[in-house]
Amino acid sequence: MAPLDIGICGAGPAGLAAALLLHRAGHRVTVFERFETARPLGSGLILQPTGLAVLAALGLLPEILALGSRIERLHGADAATGRTVLDVRYASGRNGRFGLAVHRAALFGVLHRAARQAGVAIETGRDIAALDDAGGRPRLVQADGARIGPFDLVVDASGSRSRLKHHVETPAEPRPLAYGAFWASLPWHGEGFDGHALSQRYRQASVMIGVMPIGRVDPGGPAQAAFFWSLKPDEAAAVQARGLDAWKDRVRSLWPATEAYLARIDSFEQLTLARYGHHTLRRPAGRRLAVIGDAAHSTSPQLGQGANMALLDAAALAHALDTTDDLAEALARYCAARRLHVRLFQALSLAFTPFYQSDSRLIPFLRDTLVSSVAKVPPAPAMLAAIVSGMVANPLRRIGLAEPDWAVCARPGAHPPGDLPASP
Ligand SMILES: Cc1cc2nc3c(=O)[nH]c(=O)nc-3n(C[C@H](O)[C@H](O)[C@H](O)COP(=O)(O)OP(=O)(O)OC[C@H]3O[C@@H](n4cnc5c(N)ncnc54)[C@H](O)[C@@H]3O)c2cc1C
Repeated sequence: MAPLDIGICGAGPAGLAAALLLHRAGHRVTVFERFETARPLGSGLILQPTGLAVLAALGLLPEILALGSRIERLHGADAATGRTVLDVRYASGRNGRFGLAVHRAALFGVLHRAARQAGVAIETGRDIAALDDAGGRPRLVQADGARIGPFDLVVDASGSRSRLKHHVETPAEPRPLAYGAFWASLPWHGEGFDGHALSQRYRQASVMIGVMPIGRVDPGGPAQAAFFWSLKPDEAAAVQARGLDAWKDRVRSLWPATEAYLARIDSFEQLTLARYGHHTLRRPAGRRLAVIGDAAHSTSPQLGQGANMALLDAAALAHALDTTDDLAEALARYCAARRLHVRLFQALSLAFTPFYQSDSRLIPFLRDTLVSSVAKVPPAPAMLAAIVSGMVANPLRRIGLAEPDWAVCARPGAHPPGDLPASP
């Protein structure tokens, strides 16, 4: 396709990856981000083999591997009995796959540095409020009324609260989910925890505590952990009113090993309250508009796919623009390439969430009895590994990517040895 003027709204994983890919394909790309400066908001996330494959295509795999923490296993146990009720091992699947837990700021830093070095224009302090598509080519409208553009193509990568996504044919807004979580990034403490696992404790589905090593924000920086406590956002104020010590007593009583993490929390201000919502755009494109990442589909992070889907969307859009010189056809191909994978994983996320975050007593009972037993019987372990890896429904092949040789990635030198100390 002849070079296009492309305006990207949002410098999250979706926006930055799209900017890099489209810039490399020869398009004139500008990213507009509402924040003035980058902020290491939030905590960690797991990059699945899907997201890692996109980063590999961008040439950023060694850099992110050097920062993140390799995850081999998702393990969850009943807080009262200690009985294992979730045990998904990436090695049960194919090709030596693994997850990589990273601090959000580390992922942002890797993508942002690469975009800057490539010469992508990133304009911060630009709060995009609307899209003016009345004329032939759309313009972005800032909150202060200023207009930017026109562009041949606008990419909406502004996250689940996107204000541009209602320009698609069938718009949708996220439906709030009952449960969210308190999240914090804390210094990693290895004693009593697996340095290569997301570890969780449950009490029915109303309590979920998690600890995950997330590596470092910068090379040589301190190793960190993501710590989370599942709760209903509506109840957060009441929890805070009862006081930090009461909350810590409750966490400690359910999982004594978390004491080392609780000792690092001095105030509720260290805990970020995350709210989750769920929506899926039926067709994430409009006239000269492509919607990618959380703007196109949001969900709870139960399956750990959101950032990976955002990276896949970015790669799918770049691939589609590369395969035809007709923009409308390219947008149709982008939608088609992502349709099955997005719908499948959105449905799976919606189906799995009540097993871990709900008021139901029956669903967690089934989880702890029937499901945890069935999950051990082949081919269930391999199927679960494929689901967690995000690899069901061939998402890479549809967007012209190949799966990296994970065995090579895992060789000493390709990945720093012993990425985490056993204890601080
Ligand atoms: C607690 C929690 C845990 C998670 N864990 C995982 C996990 O383990 N694995 C995983 O894959 N995913 C996880 N996710 C989901 C993941 O974080 C998101 O799916 C991912 O960040 C989506 O990327 P994005 O670029 O589409 O959107 P975002 O990351 O939301 O980025 C959007 C960007 O657009 C900017 N923006 C917004 N509005 C405007 C505007 N009006 N004008 C200009 N700029 C704007 C924002 O400032 C931001 O920089 C988790 C999410 C949460 C909340």
